[in-house]
Amino acid sequence: MTQAALAKLGRSILRRLSMDEWIKGTVFSFHSQSEMLSDGEPTCGQTSWNTEESTAVIWIVNVESLPTCGVRPIESVLLRTLVHEILHLLIEGHGEVIKYDRLYERSINRIADALVDSWESQECQQRMSQIRSTVRTQSSQSPRAAKSTGQNATSARRKSSS
Ligand SMILES: [Zn+2]
Repeated sequence: MTQAALAKLGRSILRRLSMDEWIKGTVFSFHSQSEMLSDGEPTCGQTSWNTEESTAVIWIVNVESLPTCGVRPIESVLLRTLVHEILHLLIEGHGEVIKYDRLYERSINRIADALVDSWESQECQQRMSQIRSTVRTQSSQSPRAAKSTGQNATSARRKSSS
């Protein structure tokens, strides 16, 4: 992922969280080193800000250095890391940085996970409804294909409602 793509993703999260006042002045950047420390603790991201000027810098560790935890695709891990850092800005951005606290960090992770889980399932549903409407359009255009695709759509609906 390029810096430009990271910035685009970051700005879309700011917009989703109604943090428009931060969009103009926030810089998103991959860290050049594979390890980052925050208050002496290893971290995947770091955020600093200036409340009066509504400017911020969000650093994310190199994509290759992100812990994958074995199950999640790397895009999802990156998204969660980015949301975590943006939540720091949302919660603390009106004042001073809260001193490093493991339980506080864990709580932010939980909120970030819940948000990303809900966005990912929304996106999945949107994609599914796009596919369904494409199937419907195709079946109305082609009478021959209508029979088979129409039946598939019906059986899929039956499955989901049970
Ligand atoms: Zn944090």
